[in-house]
Amino acid sequence: MRSAPARPAPPLNLDSDADLLRMIQTDDPAEIEALLCSAHAVRRRHYGDGVYFRGLIEFTNYCKNDCYYCGIRRGNAKLARYRLSRSQILECCRQGSALGYRTFVLQGGEDPHCTDAWMEPLVRAIRAEFPHHAITLSLGERSRASYERLFRAGADRYLLRHETADEAHYGRLHPASMRLRARKQCLFALREIGYQVGAGFMVGSPFQTAAELLRDLRFLQELQPQMVGIGPFIPQADTPFGRCPGGTLTMTLKMVALSRLLLPTALIPATTALGTIAPDGRERGLLAGANVVMPNLSPRRVRKQYALYDNKICTGDEAAECRACLEARIRRCGLTPDLSRGDCADRRPV
Ligand code: SAH
Repeated sequence: MRSAPARPAPPLNLDSDADLLRMIQTDDPAEIEALLCSAHAVRRRHYGDGVYFRGLIEFTNYCKNDCYYCGIRRGNAKLARYRLSRSQILECCRQGSALGYRTFVLQGGEDPHCTDAWMEPLVRAIRAEFPHHAITLSLGERSRASYERLFRAGADRYLLRHETADEAHYGRLHPASMRLRARKQCLFALREIGYQVGAGFMVGSPFQTAAELLRDLRFLQELQPQMVGIGPFIPQADTPFGRCPGGTLTMTLKMVALSRLLLPTALIPATTALGTIAPDGRERGLLAGANVVMPNLSPRRVRKQYALYDNKICTGDEAAECRACLEARIRRCGLTPDLSRGDCADRRPV
C-alpha cells in the first residue's frame, strides 16, 4: 500500500489563486507527485482504503442538444440511436444488484421521449424493488418541478457536470441556446431539493486555459457538491472538435487531486475517460484522490453506441467482467473494493 509521502506536503495555500494556478501549470514531477500523494492522504483520512462501485446504465443516446464536444449530440447523423425500455433498465438493475452494486446510475442524453411521465414510473419501480439502493440520475437539464417529482419518486442523487465554470469558455463549447447560468441554476436547485449533487468538468477541452481550470475549482467550492466528476476531454471524430487535441493524464490527475484537497469528503470517480487515455489511468486516479469506480451495466449490444468520445473502453465486456476487472485494478493499488451504498461522508445517517 502506498502511504503518505515522506516529504512534507507542498506549501500550497488553497485560498491563494496564485498558488492554485502555479500548481495547475507546474511541470515539476516532484511537485506533482507531492500533490497527488497529499490528495491520497486526505482521501484516506475521510474514506480509508475503500473504493465504491456505481453501476452505470447508459439508457438512451438520443439527445436534443448539440454540444460541440459530445459524440451523442443531435447533429451526429452517423450515430445509430437507441433507447432501452423501462423493463430493460430494470433488468440491468437486477443484474447490477446481483453483482453486489448498491447504486444505480441512469445516464442518458437529453432525450425528449424521457418525460417526467416516462421517468417517474421507472424511478418508482426501481425504488420499490430496491428500497435500500441509491438511485442516481444523470439526465441533463430539466425544470425544478421535474427534479422535485423524480426526487419524490425515490431518486437520491443527480450528476450534472457544469463542464466549465467560465461563461465565455462555456459559450465556445456549446451552441448559444445553452447557457452556463441555466446549468448552474439546475445544480443549485438540485441541491436545495435535497439530492446529493455531482458537478464536474472536462480537462483539456478546446480553448481551456489554467484560468478556466481555476474557475472550475472555485465553482466547486461555492457549490459544495457531494460528488465531482472529472475526466479528460477526448475527441470524437464525428463532432466539430473531432480533430482537437485531448486532455492529458497529468493535468487530469492534478485536477482530481486539487478537487480532493478543496472538497475533502467528496466522492470522486476514477472515470472511464481517464481509463481510456491511459491503460492505468483509473488506478492513477484512485491514487490521486479518487474513491469511486463506475462499472458499465448497459447491455453489451448498445455500449458502442453511447459514443461520447472515441475508443471508449469496456464496450466489449459483460457486466460481471467489468466488476472483476475493476476489483483487480483496485487491489493492485493496495485499495479495497467496497460494495456498500457509499454515501458522502458528510451525509451519512447518524
Ligand atoms: N446529458 C447528460 C449526460 C451527458 S454525458 C448531461 O447533460 O449531464 C456525460 C458527460 O460526458 C458529460 O457531462 C461530459 O462531461 C462528458 N463528455 C461528453 N463528451 C465528451 C468527450 N468528447 N470527452 C470527454 N468527456 C465527454
